[in-house]
Amino acid sequence: MHDSPPSAHSAISVPCSQCIPPSVQRFSIGYNRRMELIVTKFGGTALANPKRIKHVARRLVDYHSQGKQVLAVVSAMGKTTDELLGLAQQITPRPPARELDILLATGEMISMSLLAMAIETLGTRALSMTGHQAGIVTNTRHNKAQISHIKTERIKAALEEQNIVIVAGFQGTTRTGELTTLGRGGSDTSAVALAAALGARRCEIYTDVDGVYSADPRVVPRAQKLDTISYEEMLELAAAGSGVLQVRSVEFARNFAVELHCKNAFSNNPGTVIKEAGVERAIVSGIAYDDSEAKITVRGVPDALGIAATVFEAIAKANINIDMIVQNISENGHTDISFTSPAGELDRLRPVLDAQVKQLGAREYLVEESITKLSLVGAGMRTNPGVAAKMFKVLSQNGINIEMISTSAIRISVVIAAEKSQIAQRALHTAFDLDASEVFEEKLLSPEEQAAKAAKGR
Ligand code: ASP
Ligand code: MG
Repeated sequence: MHDSPPSAHSAISVPCSQCIPPSVQRFSIGYNRRMELIVTKFGGTALANPKRIKHVARRLVDYHSQGKQVLAVVSAMGKTTDELLGLAQQITPRPPARELDILLATGEMISMSLLAMAIETLGTRALSMTGHQAGIVTNTRHNKAQISHIKTERIKAALEEQNIVIVAGFQGTTRTGELTTLGRGGSDTSAVALAAALGARRCEIYTDVDGVYSADPRVVPRAQKLDTISYEEMLELAAAGSGVLQVRSVEFARNFAVELHCKNAFSNNPGTVIKEAGVERAIVSGIAYDDSEAKITVRGVPDALGIAATVFEAIAKANINIDMIVQNISENGHTDISFTSPAGELDRLRPVLDAQVKQLGAREYLVEESITKLSLVGAGMRTNPGVAAKMFKVLSQNGINIEMISTSAIRISVVIAAEKSQIAQRALHTAFDLDASEVFEEKLLSPEEQAAKAAKGR
């Protein structure tokens, strides 16, 4: 198992004790059974300035003084990662992946050392560790590496010596010692993988919001904070664009039965617990949206055997992801194929399509950037028919045209014009009885902020 390629299932092939099922391992791995281990993760906003870092230090010291072993995984302060990316862009539009990883990994090292200092000033021992020092081993894919295993000896020793251990999230090293990062939002995954590897039954993820909401509260003011949500629903929401957690972290959590507690670092609210589904399953638990994709339509493609395979093979070869695909009925032996793809990949996609259009004798291809993908997610959809029909009806009543549709067992997604996104989300939120009685107090996104969010990744 240790040498198998990492997948969602084999990802934490931590030496031996990790090879047994998580439920067994949880009870057998406890190296210092007398003390409870708390694994926490603090996001960039929770560590955005020295004052906040001191606040986080206080919280960790409180846990420690309750007689618990405490491990904290940290993100880079505030917008540091974006700033580092910006610096690299000023040197070259295509920075070498290896050097970019070394640059980006510095962000987490700043916050980890400052947090350790803040803890020490409170009179408690702290030790910060880079991903390498913490024993986090990844595969060799720079900028989106996957954790293959974690050598936990050093962390365990430091915890046993009564240190609060701070680990830099988002980074690891390959077997040959090359530094890697885990993709944007990767410190969530670092934290959950560490919790799993150390046999912790839960992982607390601290951000600047109260938990997971039924919709983005900046778009839908009546969004409600969810008390609990199942792993599978959270996976679908995260994959559909809800930015709360990196998708891989939820996969790890599910595979290793680690409960995720998403909480606000600045309040004592209970937050949202992500765990195995209970018996009661909401038909719709939440709405997610993704502005980062573009819709491409290849027009006048000869409707012959193997054409779709040819087009999508060429795109796959260029390592470009595809999400939804629709092929229209053919007319006079020609058809249109539409699909969505990350708008950030368009520069690489265009030359591939130019070549394909020529080779296949298709008419042309069109690119539409101002689209949104809206998704409804709910475990109860499996047993309740009619959700799709209701969703489409609500959209049509609001004059919103559906351009594409895709589904999974517990999700329905549609592509609509970006300018209708807000009306659509609010109408669906109301129609599926998700509205809270109170309005979310924080300000809604301004048009400029919405544009900036939509431009992300382009
Ligand atoms: N600092 C990294 C990022 O901004 C990793 C993380 O925060 O999870 O993506
Ligand atoms: Mg994050």
